[in-house]
Amino acid sequence: MATTVILGAGIIGTSTAYYLSKHQPGSSIHLVEPSPELFASASGYAGGFLAKDWFSPAVAELGALSFEEHRKFAEQEDGARKWGYSRSTSISLSQAAKSGKRVDVWCREGASRAEAASGESSVGIAPAWLRRKKGDAVEIISDDDTVAQVDPLQLSQFLLQKCIEAGVHLHHPAKALSVQTDMRDEISSICIASTTSSTETDIPCTNIVIAAGAWSSQVFKTLFPSAEFEIPVSSLAGHSLVVKSPRWTQEHEKDGCHAVFMTSEPGYSPEIFSRVGGQIYIAGLNSATEPLPDLPTDAKGKIRKDAIDRLRDTVKEVVGEDDVEVVREGLCFRPVTEKGTPFLSRIPDICLGLYYDVRPAPAGGVYLAAGHGPWGISMSLGTGKVMAEMIQGRKLSADVSKLAYSIMPEWTVDDGEDYVTVDPFGNEYPE
Ligand SMILES: Cc1cc2nc3c(=O)[nH]c(=O)nc-3n(C[C@H](O)[C@H](O)[C@H](O)COP(=O)(O)OP(=O)(O)OC[C@H]3O[C@@H](n4cnc5c(N)ncnc54)[C@H](O)[C@@H]3O)c2cc1C
Repeated sequence: MATTVILGAGIIGTSTAYYLSKHQPGSSIHLVEPSPELFASASGYAGGFLAKDWFSPAVAELGALSFEEHRKFAEQEDGARKWGYSRSTSISLSQAAKSGKRVDVWCREGASRAEAASGESSVGIAPAWLRRKKGDAVEIISDDDTVAQVDPLQLSQFLLQKCIEAGVHLHHPAKALSVQTDMRDEISSICIASTTSSTETDIPCTNIVIAAGAWSSQVFKTLFPSAEFEIPVSSLAGHSLVVKSPRWTQEHEKDGCHAVFMTSEPGYSPEIFSRVGGQIYIAGLNSATEPLPDLPTDAKGKIRKDAIDRLRDTVKEVVGEDDVEVVREGLCFRPVTEKGTPFLSRIPDICLGLYYDVRPAPAGGVYLAAGHGPWGISMSLGTGKVMAEMIQGRKLSADVSKLAYSIMPEWTVDDGEDYVTVDPFGNEYPE
């Protein structure tokens, strides 16, 4: 099996390493991560809400596969205890109208994730921790066993532990500097530098996976400076808060977790998740203008007090004033794409720029697994599984053809009148 170097040890990179290691020696897999603290990115600070079928058609198979992988993995590895895997019930407090809007766009526009809910809504019973106001209608918006909850930090850490046990090399904190080629101009190694010492190491490899979340575009530019294309993955920042309340404790957990969606005002749609371990998580304040820091840990100094205060006010309104204890404040960056769907793809060799040839799969290739937006935890295990199958040349467990680049620029005719050019990343430009 060809050696694979994965750039980025968030949940997507780690899950890819985990599934690769099931079919090749762990020692032929390398994870490279520059952040001094592991999972200080979106993967450690996300809500951890999982859905089976809240997705647009292009990602529907991947979403369903991933939900099933989460269920199986939790069953095999005691996920309930190790990463708080639990069934959940989704509730809308604001009767979010199903707008038919593109599911993936919701968080950019401050709309509610609940608009993508797949279940028929029905009147239900509120969880004990939810403070009800007179006249509030509680609408259940998920069908049985179609949503679940995890602690994403614990899940990410467990996946990494499994990788290390399988012999996967973790280079941390370290960064990839450049790609080297052999006499035939084929990619043959990657140079990794420790970020805390002057050590540089050449890792012989023919497979490279870019899974650096919102930093994926930077990684591609560093490694392939002559490439004409940019990786179209940008960032959408999100503040979050984790609290504890006497109204949500271990004894309440037997009834399962809840996901509560509300629309408080235009542009602010808080989502509140009760999680195993007596935690309540809230997010919903997002910003596309917050600059991406060099490292996820740099975000700690950029947490906005006004954003945290607003989340705290909302949580007090929903849970009740009494004894809400703040456990953690967070600011992290979702990797987002214009199309609203992630890339799970081999990057066409032609996009790598001059000087680089790549062996045909499965002997070699440069791959991209990034841009999961608000659904990276839910889709993590499915992504890892499918990426491993793609890299190892096995049959794919889900149809991800709509998440790939087209090989060559194409011409299409729109309505028989206007011409548009579609670049290899699927971006359309009017002629
Ligand atoms: C507030 C919030 C709440 C969310 N809630 C949910 C939820 O409930 N359910 C859900 O499914 N999803 C949720 N998400 C989305 C989810 O968190 C992301 O889609 C997912 O974590 C993306 O994972 P990733 O591994 O691609 O990226 P990341 O977690 O960002 O990991 C990328 C890694 O790449 C590293 N990196 C940076 N530069 C380099 C470099 N030069 N070389 C190598 N590596 C590099 C980074 O340090 C980082 O560790 C939420 C996101 C936010 C912001």
